[in-house]
Amino acid sequence: MTTTYQQPATVATPLPFLRSELTRLQAYTPHPGGTEEPSVEIDRLDTNESPYDLPVVLKQELAQIWELSIESNRYPDGGHNRLKAAIASYVMESSALNQAPILPSQISVGNGSDELLRSILIATCVGGAGSIMVAGPTFSMYGILAQTLGIPVVSVARSVVNFEVDLDAARSATRDRQIPIRVVFMVHPNSPTGNALTAAELDWMRSLPTDILVVIDEAYFEFSQQTVVSELAQHPNWIVLRTFSKALRLAAHRVGYAVGHPQLIATLEQVRLPYNLPSISLAAAELVLQHRQSLLATIPETISERDRLFTALTKIANLQVWSSDANFIYARIKGANPDLAMTELVAQLKIQGTSIRHTGGGLRISIGTPAENERTMLRISQLST
Ligand SMILES: *Cc1c(COP(=O)(O)O)cnc(C)c1O
Repeated sequence: MTTTYQQPATVATPLPFLRSELTRLQAYTPHPGGTEEPSVEIDRLDTNESPYDLPVVLKQELAQIWELSIESNRYPDGGHNRLKAAIASYVMESSALNQAPILPSQISVGNGSDELLRSILIATCVGGAGSIMVAGPTFSMYGILAQTLGIPVVSVARSVVNFEVDLDAARSATRDRQIPIRVVFMVHPNSPTGNALTAAELDWMRSLPTDILVVIDEAYFEFSQQTVVSELAQHPNWIVLRTFSKALRLAAHRVGYAVGHPQLIATLEQVRLPYNLPSISLAAAELVLQHRQSLLATIPETISERDRLFTALTKIANLQVWSSDANFIYARIKGANPDLAMTELVAQLKIQGTSIRHTGGGLRISIGTPAENERTMLRISQLST
């Protein structure tokens, strides 16, 4: 007797044991690079990674660690102690602290900062304990992760002129005590719009009651050189997130970290999976911190390339471009049907070999190598005239 496998049910008839709201969830669309054969002809300027792989000598060093000191049959170091100590000193050095030192007990390491975002939501909002606030357009993962956990998302607007948060809307949202806001997510500088926090936004964050956690996502810190780390000691309800995925060139290894109050960090450690990072990723993160000076030496090039691309894009008449504190530029097509025009432009660029992202009502263009940026400028200006 043979049995035939039933075709999986479509979305129209969801499996009855699944949470119904998940069938409506618009999931994050990951970059295809990891699963497809990487196309050498495509300039991958849609995920804000570094355009530069690790130098061969460092890859060889990592391969040697893999070969000689990582036992594949053993669980990784689940405490991350060496890496936490290295991160603590990197954070101190990079924020020029002259007061309280950052201790390893103030650091939690995640499988990407995405994992830390989820741990934060589990530690604060799950089970009807509260909602979160985001200011759109912003990094989509906050809202997506919240929805997967059944956490309500309150979204306030940003200025269409400069993308500053509508602070009046933010104030009234945090005063509404129906579903109290437990966590506010701010990105410094914001993705996709590239703007760093303003003095007014920082003042508002300082004024928030201490029963609201403020997450300051500094994924692009190495490009902006702006950080709130030195204020953490005064604000036990603030937590800073950073990542190895962007300037530190380790997107493939999935390493992110949080810096905050030791008690909050201890709770994040409690809710995370015990062995959340593979041994090779822990080793890679330690290695890049040892070699941070030479790895970060490409940042000035990225910044001058960003400014060059910005200047070139401002010369295109039907494009509105914003200055950026990060390693990407945000732009919008002006005119009657901008979203259709942008969808079309992104598709045409892809055909020509440049991949950028259409998100948050605009175009987010990562800064690549000088040759890639040259092609970006040429192709966008040709397609826009
Ligand atoms: C890229 C990015 C991250 C990094 O996520 P990882 O999971 O560490 O790769 C976090 N926040 C923002 C705003 C980002 O753009």
